[in-house]
Amino acid sequence: MLHVNENYSKIQASYLFTEIAHRVSAHQAANPSAKVIRLGIGDVTEPLAPSVVAAMHRAVDDEAGRTNFHGYGPEQGYAFLREKAAKIDFQDRGVDIAADEIFVSDGAKCDCGNIQELFGGDVKIAVGDPVYPVYVDTNVMAGRTGANDGGRYAGLTYLTCDASNGFVPGPEATGDADVVYLCYPNNPTGAVATLEQLQKWVDWANGRKALILFDAAYEAFIRTPGIPHSIYECRGARTCAIEFRSYSKTAGFTGVRCGYTVVPKGLVAYADDGTPVELRPMWTRRQTTKFNGASYITQRGAEAIYTPEGQRETKATIDFYLENGRLMKEALQSLGYGVTGGGDSPYLWVDVKGDSWAFFDRLLKEANIVTTPGAGFGRAGEGYIRISSFNSRENVLEAIERFKKAL
Ligand code: PLP
Repeated sequence: MLHVNENYSKIQASYLFTEIAHRVSAHQAANPSAKVIRLGIGDVTEPLAPSVVAAMHRAVDDEAGRTNFHGYGPEQGYAFLREKAAKIDFQDRGVDIAADEIFVSDGAKCDCGNIQELFGGDVKIAVGDPVYPVYVDTNVMAGRTGANDGGRYAGLTYLTCDASNGFVPGPEATGDADVVYLCYPNNPTGAVATLEQLQKWVDWANGRKALILFDAAYEAFIRTPGIPHSIYECRGARTCAIEFRSYSKTAGFTGVRCGYTVVPKGLVAYADDGTPVELRPMWTRRQTTKFNGASYITQRGAEAIYTPEGQRETKATIDFYLENGRLMKEALQSLGYGVTGGGDSPYLWVDVKGDSWAFFDRLLKEANIVTTPGAGFGRAGEGYIRISSFNSRENVLEAIERFKKAL
C-alpha cells in the first residue's frame, strides 16, 4: 500500500487568497457594475525593460541558427550572467562574492523551498510572524514541524514582527533555532533592516553555528542610503548565510522566471560527529541532479538588466512603483493611519486599528478596493492590511480618491 507523505495533511489550506477571491467574486456578483481595484496583488504590472526584450529577441535568433544554438546549459547558470551578477550586485558594492558562488535558477521561490533539502530533518527553524508562507510550508512538508494549532505549527519558532520592534526582530527570542529565515525589505510588512540589526543576526549565527537564509527578493527597492542590500555587507556573513535574489520584482520577471542563490565557499553544516560539510558542493550536486537550468533566452534577458540601459530602465520602473507607494502612503497617513513600508519596498503595511478582515470587507464594500488582510500572513499580522504598489498610476490615483471618501 502506498503510504502518503502525512506531513502534507498538516499544511493549512491556502485560506488567505482563496477567501479573498471568494469575497471579491461575491461582491462583484452583487455589484456587477463596480470597478474593483486590486491593491492586494504581489505581481508586477509594468512590462519588461526594452533592453531586456531586445536581448531576449537576439537570444531567440541565436537559437534559430546552427552556429549559436544552445541546448542544455550549465545547471548553475551561464557564466555571462553569473559574472555580471557577482560584479554588479556585489563586487562593485564592495561585497566579496564570486561568480562561482552564484547559482542561477528559475526564481527565488523554488530556491527558498529547495534549499532546506541540504539540512537534517531535525534542524530547528525560526521564521518571522507575519511571514512569506513558503518558508513555513516547505518545512512542514519536510516534516520539521508538528501540527498546526491556532495558526502556528508546533516545533517552529515564531519571531514576532510588530510595532514594538519596528517590525525587525532581533535574535534574542530564537531559542534553539539552527536556521532563521530573514527577508528584507520584508514581504509583507515592507520593513527594512539596518546594518547594525543584520550584524546582530550574523554574530548570533556564527556564535551558534547556525544559518541565516536571507531573502533579498526586494533589494532593488531600497533607496535609503546605508540600508544593506545584501546580508554579505555584514562582517562574517560568508560563514553563516545563504542569500536569495530574484529578477521578478527587480525587472518584471515574474512571468519570465529567473533569480539566483548565493552559497559562499567555506559555508558549512555539520555531520553527526561534528565534521563540517561544505554546503556549496552539496547545492551544486542538488542542482545538477534535480534542475536543468533557466533557459538561455531567459538568462540573456537577465544579463541585459546589467547593461547601463538595463540598469536605467529597471530603476525607472521601480521608481514608478515606489512613487505609487509614496502617494498611497501619504494619503493613508493623512487619513490618520499608521503605515510601515513603502520608501524602500513595494508594500505598505497599514495599521487598521482593528480586525483586518473587517477592514478588508469595509474597503471592498465601500470603496471597491481589494487589499490583503494581515492575519493571512500570521498571527502577528492581525490588525494590519498589506497594500501593494504594483499597479497602474491611474488605479492608484483612483484608489486614493476612494480611500478619502470611504475612510
Ligand atoms: N521571496 C519573497 C519574499 C517574495 O515575496 C516572493 C514573491 O512574491 C518570492 C521570494 C518569489 O520570487 P520569485 O518570483 O523569484 O520566485
